[in-house]
Amino acid sequence: MVVLNQLRKSGGFWLKLDNVNILQDPGPGSLVMVHQLRLKPRDLDAIMLSHRHIDHSNDVNVITEAMTGGGFQPRGRLIVPADCLNSDPVVLQYIRPFVGITEMKKDLEITLGEVKIGFPVQTMHPVETYGIIYSFKEGRLGYIPDTEYFPELAGAYRGVDFLIINVVRMKTDKRIRHLNMDEAAKLIEEIHPKRAILTHFGLQVLKANPELQAKNISERTGVDVMAAHDGMCVNFEKKETEKWF
Ligand SMILES: [Zn+2]
Repeated sequence: MVVLNQLRKSGGFWLKLDNVNILQDPGPGSLVMVHQLRLKPRDLDAIMLSHRHIDHSNDVNVITEAMTGGGFQPRGRLIVPADCLNSDPVVLQYIRPFVGITEMKKDLEITLGEVKIGFPVQTMHPVETYGIIYSFKEGRLGYIPDTEYFPELAGAYRGVDFLIINVVRMKTDKRIRHLNMDEAAKLIEEIHPKRAILTHFGLQVLKANPELQAKNISERTGVDVMAAHDGMCVNFEKKETEKWF
């Protein structure tokens, strides 16, 4: 409902790690937001889909076109689970020659410039979905995408410095396989990164004040936890003073 009514933007997040630019999960409105934030799709080195649900993949074709100058300058990588390409594909056939395509698999490792990208876990979600760890100069950034809770999840992210978690619900609804706030707190407590960012909020979370929820988890775990908001920019560099926009 949050995406369909655009209560929050749904364009995913742009990572700039050691000068490698990656767009993670370009949902509806991603191309528009990229331009509004004065980012340039031509600077992208890769587009990554954690899974093919429309709130994570809607703009993958248009962003791929934008990354490749309308397909006239083939470049970059598109890294997606196999079901984004095969059954009920979200990547259009005519787009595919514009870009190098890599099929995500558990335990696959990819290097882009100085950045290493690993896929430590396939999560529990109705379509093929993978967790991701980005290793770069300043540390390791884990992304826990859509999933229901399962005990092995924390172990897959052991030792990460930064963690982005999709937390959709306050209370679990068995029909949709997503994390709730308590489960996100438990994961943050176990993984214990330096910083965690909550994102991908459903209506229940928006009503429960995401900033307050982040503060509660911070107090409970001792981890610096923040709630994402539209257009937020996070600096992962180890500096005395960090800038938050
Ligand atoms: Zn999903």
